[in-house]
Amino acid sequence: MSRIQKILVVGGGTAGWLTACYLAKALNTAAPGSIRVELVESPAIGLLGVGEATFPSIRGTLAAIGLDERRFLVGATATYKQGIQYVNWVRPPGEPGADRFFHPFSLPSQRAGSPELLPYWLLGGAPEGMAFAEAVTMQKRLIDHGRAPKRPGDPDYQGPMNHAYHFDAACFAAVLAEHGQSLGIKRHLGMVERAELDASGAIARIVTREIGELTADLYVDCTGLRGALIGGALQSPFHSRSDVLFADRAVALQVPYSRPDAPILPFTRATAQESGWIWDIGLQKRRGIGYVYSSRHSGATRAEEVVRGYVGDAAAGLEALHIKFETGYRPEHWHRNCVAVGLAGGFVEPLESTGIALVELAAYLITHLLPGDVDDMERTARRFNDMMIARYERIIDFIKMHYCLSQRRDSAFWIDNTAPASIPQTLQDRLALWRHRPPHRLDFVTDLEMFMPASWQYVLYGMEFQTDLEPMRSAYPQMEAAQREFAMIRQMAGHALNDLPDHRALVEQLCREH
Ligand code: FAD
Repeated sequence: MSRIQKILVVGGGTAGWLTACYLAKALNTAAPGSIRVELVESPAIGLLGVGEATFPSIRGTLAAIGLDERRFLVGATATYKQGIQYVNWVRPPGEPGADRFFHPFSLPSQRAGSPELLPYWLLGGAPEGMAFAEAVTMQKRLIDHGRAPKRPGDPDYQGPMNHAYHFDAACFAAVLAEHGQSLGIKRHLGMVERAELDASGAIARIVTREIGELTADLYVDCTGLRGALIGGALQSPFHSRSDVLFADRAVALQVPYSRPDAPILPFTRATAQESGWIWDIGLQKRRGIGYVYSSRHSGATRAEEVVRGYVGDAAAGLEALHIKFETGYRPEHWHRNCVAVGLAGGFVEPLESTGIALVELAAYLITHLLPGDVDDMERTARRFNDMMIARYERIIDFIKMHYCLSQRRDSAFWIDNTAPASIPQTLQDRLALWRHRPPHRLDFVTDLEMFMPASWQYVLYGMEFQTDLEPMRSAYPQMEAAQREFAMIRQMAGHALNDLPDHRALVEQLCREH
């Protein structure tokens, strides 16, 4: 039997440092005799520098690696994110009807003994015209009033409202690098020039320009879109899903606030545009704004015009960063003794912020599936790959749902998104079923889903999807109890408004306390 003794992470972006920290903490790498975790990165190659919005799983990950929340807020210039507000997704601007809906991170209220609220909302039990997200959770009302998800005295990474964070990606990587070294990770600075393979096709060593050769039992490729090991030496193919999700370019701006005390949005705003959508993210000192678009439907010049138009006068003189990407993944994320994490393994366009969440998932899977014997590597790789592929495919379905349910027909981009050939059969089947009954947790394999049934429901009904429950009305006899719940949620939201601080005020207080 031969034990894994050393893991080498190649690349020092979010994926590299987050994976290394997770492994180092879980494997207690600083203790004598434990598995060593090392990381090599090249300062000559920058980070991608976007990736500013996260998913609530980040709280568990940051707590698991032992990073203090205030230190994180200060170092990564982080703010709180309580969900995503969708503007102009259902219909183009100017058409009658709601122009926005909210996907909150908090689950629909479900107190012991009270019925599940969705069917009663579908049957018209909520106050006239009230959106699903507003009827079933108080989070929508709280974000409308700019509230933070927690109070200053709440424990690290906990609070009454479910939340994630927005942060500056480069600052985040720097905080993790410092923290990771305190966990016992050895950091090398060097540009990896090539990987050399042994007779079995596994990586025997990597060769750097500055510090010579490095070897390990397991190599974690976190070299970003380059995929230097997994796509380079190992030639693990990339499976494109751009036939489903068309966006493949972004143009981003960093926009200063108009005044230092300007309110900070406690959510990501995603505004649909002619050929994609614009993210608008509030950090402590600036907003991160970017237009994600399809190059089949828009040129780069027009895209920059659109994003500058969105920002207005404040865009004058700001430098725009143009980025290329593609939705897809490597079915063999883990090949031989190399596993790809982050952009090296795959990416789903940024709607709903799954990039870093997929990094967290991969770090978790590697840690817990790590073979006790090097000879078990192939078996482990198969299990890991199966789980990653399943997640990717379900995420792709979820993201596609946002596009294909739109009633927009004002540009080729939106029309093309409703072409049946571009909608995976799995998604078509679910949508067909949900015309006649609401989504149920049995429609989901919880262990393989990033998005819980509540998220599907928030987006589905935010997009004004119609489920006809009328023929089943008699199966839902608790209308009065449900209506009491709807009233209770509104009342509790009123109390929470008094209890929770303003978003900027909380961030500034926690940073001062660091
Ligand atoms: P990178 O940040 O590119 O880091 C790669 C690292 O590898 C660098 O340290 C580099 O120096 C090193 N490296 C590369 N080659 C070598 C070499 N030969 N030798 C040594 N070192 C090397 N994710 C989210 O969760 N939320 C979002 O809102 C979000 N928005 C996004 C928007 C866009 C337009 C794009 C394209 C992505 C977005 N993502 C988002 C994804 C997110 O950016 C990435 O998942 C995350 O930053 C991880 O990137 P990475 O570490 O894999 O790659």
